[in-house]
Amino acid sequence: MVLTHKTIRDGWFREISSQWPGQAMSLQVNKILHVEQSLYQDVLVFESAAYGNVLVLDGVIQCTERDEFSYQEMIAHIPLASHPNPKKVLVIGGGDGGVVREVLKHASVEHVVLCDIDEAVVRVSKQFLPHMSALLASPKVTVHIGDGFKFLAENESTYDVIVTDSSDPVGPAASLFEKPYFQLLHDALAPGGSISTQGECLWLHLPLIKDLRHMTKSIFPVSEYAFTTIPTYPSGQIGFVVATRDANRDLRTAVRDVPGTKYYSRAVHGAAFVLPEFARTMLEEG
Ligand code: SAM
Repeated sequence: MVLTHKTIRDGWFREISSQWPGQAMSLQVNKILHVEQSLYQDVLVFESAAYGNVLVLDGVIQCTERDEFSYQEMIAHIPLASHPNPKKVLVIGGGDGGVVREVLKHASVEHVVLCDIDEAVVRVSKQFLPHMSALLASPKVTVHIGDGFKFLAENESTYDVIVTDSSDPVGPAASLFEKPYFQLLHDALAPGGSISTQGECLWLHLPLIKDLRHMTKSIFPVSEYAFTTIPTYPSGQIGFVVATRDANRDLRTAVRDVPGTKYYSRAVHGAAFVLPEFARTMLEEG
């Protein structure tokens, strides 16, 4: 059967969304590999001409095999490498497994729980994104299918690091960008614990990022914003809200090296917090 999808025409995928009006990332498609309407979202996987296999949810690119490492490494290693001894880690979202792969590069980590709302993402990632999903089978990893919001409410004072690798704030991830979620994150951390969350794009979402900064500052004693570059996310850039319960923690500084990275280094860790001037003035002074 020849698969088709509404976002693919004349051999090109186009990422059209009201979240980035007037612009759309395009990728040339070699072959559509999987199309499914899951309980929560429209799931598409295709083989691209230039970026390997691509996972798309509700028409929005979630990861490509070629550039995913820049996002997965940064959202994971910034909170983990600045924590003195992370043992228990929770990943909310992240059903492709890429963040879990990065978390397991930290020798101190004993147990990782992944909580994604959609089993379809975990299933298709195991099939089509093996380099990201392989370590979901590690004995250190527990995969839980369920809503991250609910899961947090049931797990107080537990985790040294929580990474929220969510999709954008429309659909099932909307609640993961609101103040009650950040309070739950705070309460689910063990003393001294840290979080990082997917924090959208400086070029497109400054008002939303400003709200996220206000929210986290009102809940955590230390809260920062960092970013990475990545060709296939809108405008080629995405940020992270990073915060901790430890009032004395310096989130900008790694306390150990991380082996086997392609984007992250101690120097990149520190540099990720230096914002371009248009964003710094809006977020820090506005
Ligand atoms: N790195 C990606 C990005 O920024 O576009 C996100 C990738 S990851 C695949 C996003 C995951 O968040 C999806 O698998 C989705 O099912 C999951 N998700 C969305 N809402 C969720 C919720 N409320 N609880 C748990 N997982 C959720």
